[in-house]
Amino acid sequence: MVQTIFSDTIVALSTPPGAGALAVIRLSGPAAIEITATVFSKKGLLTAPGHSLHYGTLRDPETSQLLDEVVVALYRNPRSFTREDVVEISCHGSDYVVRQVLALLLRKGARLAEAGEFTKRAFLHGAMDLAQAEAVADLIASDSAISHRVALNQLRGGFSQELRALRARLIKFAALLELELDFGEEDVEFADRSGLALLLAEVRGVVGGLLRSFELGNVIKNGITAVIAGRPNAGKSTLLNALLREERAIVSAIPGTTRDFIEDEVSLEGIRFRFVDTAGLRDNPADEIEAIGVSRTRQRVRQAALLLYLFDLTEVTPAEVRSEIEALTEGLHLPVVAVGNKTDLASPETQASFMAAFGRAAQPVPLVLVAAGPKQGLDALQTTLLAQVRGSDLENTASATIVTNVRHARALETAAAHLAAVQAGLDTNRGTELLAADLRHALAALGEITGEISSEDLLTSIFTEFCIGK
Ligand code: GDP
Ligand code: ZN
Repeated sequence: MVQTIFSDTIVALSTPPGAGALAVIRLSGPAAIEITATVFSKKGLLTAPGHSLHYGTLRDPETSQLLDEVVVALYRNPRSFTREDVVEISCHGSDYVVRQVLALLLRKGARLAEAGEFTKRAFLHGAMDLAQAEAVADLIASDSAISHRVALNQLRGGFSQELRALRARLIKFAALLELELDFGEEDVEFADRSGLALLLAEVRGVVGGLLRSFELGNVIKNGITAVIAGRPNAGKSTLLNALLREERAIVSAIPGTTRDFIEDEVSLEGIRFRFVDTAGLRDNPADEIEAIGVSRTRQRVRQAALLLYLFDLTEVTPAEVRSEIEALTEGLHLPVVAVGNKTDLASPETQASFMAAFGRAAQPVPLVLVAAGPKQGLDALQTTLLAQVRGSDLENTASATIVTNVRHARALETAAAHLAAVQAGLDTNRGTELLAADLRHALAALGEITGEISSEDLLTSIFTEFCIGK
C-alpha cells in the first residue's frame, strides 16, 4: 500500500449518460470498498483481494429497497488507475438506476467527483505524468486510426520518456554551471563549454523536431480546412460533391450560383478534411452579391490551411492559372494544389501542356487532372492532398513522436527560445550566471509538459477540460 494524498472518496458515472445495456459507476479513495460493502449483498468484500469480481445485489440498507443486480470490480491501492482503492460497479444502464445508485453511495459517504478528478488523482499519486494524463482525454476523443495511435503512444509514455531524457542531460550541465556560480570569483570552469555546445545543438534539434511535428499533430487532432476556389463554372461544387460522395452542394450551369459557402468533412486515411466550396472568383463581378462572395472567398482562403485551386482545362491557359493562384495567395504561406478539371472535354495536347508548364515552374505547384463530373482522377487528388498535409513527416507516424497538444507546443516554444539564448550566450562568451539562468528557464518549460514542474492553476485548467467520471 502506498501513502495517498486524499482522505475523501469520490464517485461518478464513468460511462456516458443515457440508457445503455450497462453503466459503470466508479469510486476511488480510502473508503471506496467500505462504502460499497455497506450496500452490497455479498459478504467478504472488505477482505477480498484486489483485481477480483463480485456478483450480487445493491440494496438501500435503510429501506431494504432492492436497486439492481450488479458486478463489483475491486482494485486495491496501489494497483489501480488512481493508485487508491477503486471500485467499479457495473449496473444496468438506466438513468433511473444510475441516479439511485449514485444517491445511495453519496448518502453512504462518497463525494461526487469533479471533472477529471480520477485522472488528476492518478497524476498526483505518480501513476502517470501530466502528458500521459492529457493523453487519456485524447484517447477517449480519438476518432481515427492515426489520432488513436498518437494518443496511445503518448499515454504509454513515449513522449514523456523522450522529454525526460533531454531534461536529464541538460540538468547535469545546469548543475555544473550552478557549481561554478557557487565558487564565485575564483573563475573555475567545471562545465566544459564545447561539450555544452554539442549537447545544446542536439537538444535544440530534438525540440525543433517536436515543434515541427505539432503542425501535423494539430491536423491529426483537429482536421484541416481546405478551400476549393476557382472561376465560376470551373466545377467546384461538382468536385465537392464528388469528394463528399453525395449531392450536398448545389450544382448549376449558370456561372456564379454558389453564393454561400458549403462545407463538409471527409476523413482521408484518418485525417479529417473540411472542404469549403466558395463562390466563383472573377475580375469583374457581375453583381453585388457576387462581389460579396468574392471578397469572402479571399477571406476564406486566408483562414484555410490548404487551397485547392480548380480550373476548367478548356477555358484557361497555364499562365492564367498561375497568376490567379498567385493573386489569391499573395502574402500567405499556404500549400496549394492546382486541379485541372474536365479531362473528358480537354484534348490530350492541352492536358500535356498543363502538366509540362506546372512541372517546369521555379516553385512548382502540384497539379492534378480530374474530371469531377464523371469522377475520374479523384484517387490521385486524394493522394496529393494527403502528401501536402503530411509532408514527409507522416511516413513514420507509427514510430515518431508527434506533438498534438497546444500546451505542449507552447512549452516547447518557450524552451526553444531559452535554449537559443543559451547558445547565443555561449557564442559570445557570456557570463556563467546568464547561461545558468537561461538553462533553468528552458528546463522549467520542458518540465511543465510532463508535470515535473506544475502549479495548481495549470492542473485545474487541464483537468477541468475532462468530463466528470474520467
Ligand atoms: P462551380 O461554379 O465552379 O461550382 O461549377 P459547377 O460545379 O457548378 O459546375 C459547372 C458546370 O460544369 C456544371 O454544368 C457541371 O455539370 C459541369 N462540370 C463539372 N465537372 C465536369 C467535368 O468533369 N466534366 C464535364 N464535362 N463537365 C463538368
Ligand atoms: Zn459552385
